[in-house]
Amino acid sequence: EVVQVPELVGAAVEAFRTQRMEDGVDLSVDVSEGLPAVDVDRAAVAGALLNLLQNAYKYSGPENRRITLLARGGGKWVDLSVEDNGVGIAAKERKRIFERFYRVDNLLTRKTEGSGLGLAIARRIIETHGGRISVQSEPGRGSRFTIHLPAGKA
Ligand code: ATP
Ligand code: MG
Repeated sequence: EVVQVPELVGAAVEAFRTQRMEDGVDLSVDVSEGLPAVDVDRAAVAGALLNLLQNAYKYSGPENRRITLLARGGGKWVDLSVEDNGVGIAAKERKRIFERFYRVDNLLTRKTEGSGLGLAIARRIIETHGGRISVQSEPGRGSRFTIHLPAGKA
């Protein structure tokens, strides 16, 4: 299914806003103009992006919680990244968080609910589309997850 990036981002953001309307979060969304379309299962990829937004929310704050969603791209690819100013992820945990049922043991995971499945499912979905999902993080400062997708055939 050929999907325009603003539509994909809009679907995830709308679902996120619906869930979080009452809580404090400063969400900024920046989608470049003229991005190529992607050929994806819209609901599945929007769901993967939603999990990144939910994670950014759950594993941050509650004070001064800031989340930035960026959509960037070129001729052959599109990057969707979600950046937070949350607890971050230690280097040795960064691989394991993509395993099913794995949750890092810290105050915020103890205070929040989750099955530890979101990232495993997201990775599966993105790889099924020929893409990749990666993480950069600085413990105590924040994280950035990036979904890298091939552009759809024009
Ligand atoms: P689910 O998504 O199934 O409801 P979950 O959020 O615990 O549960 P994942 O989305 O797979 O599961 O994330 C796995 C673990 O990775 C989380 O429990 C958390 O410890 C860590 N994690 C994920 N995203 C972040 C983030 N943005 N900042 C810090 N830690 C994170
Ligand atoms: Mg999650």
